[in-house]
Amino acid sequence: MDNNSVTGMLDTMIIGGGQAGLTLGYHLKEQQRNFLILDANQRAGDAWRQRWDSLRVFTPAKYDGLPGEPFPADPLSFPTKDELAGYLEGYAERNALPVLHGTRVERLWREGGHFVAASNGRRWEARNAVVATGVSQEPKVPAFATYLAAGTVQFHSAAYRNPGQLQDGPVLVVGLGNSGAEIALEVSRTHQTIAAGKPGGELPVKHGRTAARYALPIVRFLGLHVLTLDTPVGRKAAPAFKAHAAPLIRTKTKDLAAAGVRLVPRVTGVEDGQPVLADGTRLEVANVIWCTGFRDDFSWIDPELLDGGALPRQHRGVALDTPGLFFLGQEFLYAAASATLPGAGRDARYLAGKIPQLGRIDVLPMRQ
Ligand SMILES: Cc1cc2nc3c(=O)[nH]c(=O)nc-3n(C[C@H](O)[C@H](O)[C@H](O)COP(=O)(O)OP(=O)(O)OC[C@H]3O[C@@H](n4cnc5c(N)ncnc54)[C@H](O)[C@@H]3O)c2cc1C
Repeated sequence: MDNNSVTGMLDTMIIGGGQAGLTLGYHLKEQQRNFLILDANQRAGDAWRQRWDSLRVFTPAKYDGLPGEPFPADPLSFPTKDELAGYLEGYAERNALPVLHGTRVERLWREGGHFVAASNGRRWEARNAVVATGVSQEPKVPAFATYLAAGTVQFHSAAYRNPGQLQDGPVLVVGLGNSGAEIALEVSRTHQTIAAGKPGGELPVKHGRTAARYALPIVRFLGLHVLTLDTPVGRKAAPAFKAHAAPLIRTKTKDLAAAGVRLVPRVTGVEDGQPVLADGTRLEVANVIWCTGFRDDFSWIDPELLDGGALPRQHRGVALDTPGLFFLGQEFLYAAASATLPGAGRDARYLAGKIPQLGRIDVLPMRQ
């Protein structure tokens, strides 16, 4: 189908065609709904392709499949990011999901009881709008990064591909979440490496096939069924989940120490062009990789649909003050696993049951 030919009032537009948007598309297709997925990237799976070269997912293949299609790999293996990207691309094709690629929605607003999305001079109208643009929208870098000496090579983990991007000399990896730990271990093979920060805990078992068989099913169960908005322990944990990095899963601090990575306190500023740590130490480094996470970027959504520029009041992705507006793939939308592959399917299925259908009479069929 040529998605450019979709015309008229849509039942639903999904903004973002990563795993969250595609999964919701799968369920809407099952319901024979008139919907369109608008995605900024050129190909399904690009969000994964754009991550660093050596990235392998933490979640075993048995948990990486989306509804209707298991991930085609040894269930206890950990797919590469390109295998995952290929799977998502194939998923969109095999399920004939209507995705319009290369379409970054620049504005979303409400007009006369429906939603309008605009991109590059075109506009789409729908009774329902779902924001599924992911949690890695805007790389977060401290403002003092601009004071690093001009010769310092610095970039965010979102721009990291491999150690070939670095110049000779020591590397400082700032932030000890999973990205920071994995990148620090990789660059330590070619560069003297310092990792700054404190991890938000560590998975107490070694990651790998044995963990995939015995320990990760427990982690998955906790993330899907125990730490949810429906349990007291989940409601208590939710703010911390949103605010802090996840515990280290594969690369732990002892692995970093064994690889010769120097672990130091967090970076608090820059003096004379060099990073300064919380204990006052000034480091002499040639490269800095900011593994400092991401922030939401909803600047393209009409502020009237948001709460002070942030996610509005919602329950499991259903906006409470704006009928027809939905969110998917956000951190702890319903459970600790909400923004991961194992959590994507359930949240999408729930939302698909909540998105009101257009009366048949209003539906303009998609042109083939
Ligand atoms: C480094 C890293 C490793 C991870 N490893 C794992 C793992 O091992 N296992 C696991 O389960 N999860 C993992 N995750 C978490 C999660 O599964 C991924 O972040 C996943 O990509 C989220 O899917 P998504 O569909 O919510 O968002 P994304 O994959 O980010 O997709 C969002 C889509 O929206 C599009 N978009 C954004 N803004 C607009 C706009 N304005 N208009 C149109 N389109 C737009 C983007 O182009 C993109 O295609 C990892 C995340 C990161 C960052």
